[in-house]
Amino acid sequence: MSEPLEDTIPRTIGLVGAGTMGRGIAEIAACAGLEVSLVEISAAVRNSAVEVLRRSLSRGIAKGRVSAASPDEILCRIRWHDSLAPLAGCQFIIEAVPEQEHLKRQVLTDLDRVCGRETVLATNTSSISITRLAAATGRPGQVVGMHFFNPVPVMEPVEVVRGLQTTQSVVDCTVALAKRLGKQPLIVKDQPGFVVNRILLPLINEAAFVLQEGTADAATIDELMRLGCNHPMGPLQLADFVGLDVCLSILRVLHGELGDPKYRPCPLLTQLVDAGRLGRKTGWGFFKYT
Ligand code: NAD
Repeated sequence: MSEPLEDTIPRTIGLVGAGTMGRGIAEIAACAGLEVSLVEISAAVRNSAVEVLRRSLSRGIAKGRVSAASPDEILCRIRWHDSLAPLAGCQFIIEAVPEQEHLKRQVLTDLDRVCGRETVLATNTSSISITRLAAATGRPGQVVGMHFFNPVPVMEPVEVVRGLQTTQSVVDCTVALAKRLGKQPLIVKDQPGFVVNRILLPLINEAAFVLQEGTADAATIDELMRLGCNHPMGPLQLADFVGLDVCLSILRVLHGELGDPKYRPCPLLTQLVDAGRLGRKTGWGFFKYT
């Protein structure tokens, strides 16, 4: 496979949202030598994200995954902001705000107003229609899905999602950027949940139903799926890792858009989210984390 052309790869990246995914994308972009402007509205998240990044980079350096003398050598390429205005000069922006359509539409509309006409607007949405999100902007040809996997520094694939109006040059640029970030881009069509979440979320949801029905406890369900299906992680632990709120949002999109009752979210999953048990990020989901 030929290497991406250097001049198609943006040198300045904007990111919106420094949660699980946004800070992971910031880390790999800074490691690849790109300048990163990261917008996060929560001061608490901004403060904690720097420390999470520092620990992740230290681990990467120790394992030889990151080539730098110290985390600070990488961290100095990331500039932190609390509003979108400083992203005006970025060539490529990836939004990674929570999986709520109204929120993403608002962010994209605001970015469309703030950024230059050439800027590509990518979304890390797990399931929402790229075509519909693109329609919230005046540049639907320059809106593309760029769906990374968690944890970003470790997981290889990126689903590059072509919306109805996404231009070929924007798809090419997104593929080139993903390669530069050390990822394997795979181009897919704009359908609810794309490929991975369309297949994965029904599995997680079914595991929640099995737990709700009392067929087995959470640890037994996961152990059986690990050993019986040779999965590296059970579906309930994986759901905790993704975030139960993210899982529920994706299932609601699948259920709403595909209209098939097989995608209806398990009531137990909804209850856990209502209770604030969102998985690893809150210390408790299907399992407890210390
Ligand atoms: P998260 O809740 O961990 O982080 C979202 C961050 O966005 C929060 O820190 C929040 O304060 C910030 N935010 C909210 N509104 C903002 C705004 N207007 N401007 C700037 N920052 C804002 O969520 P996450 O798990 O990182 O997911 C983000 C996106 O990535 C979602 O669309 C999700 O579906 C997708 N995704 C998640 C995973 C996963 O495993 N968690 C995997 C792939 C894709």
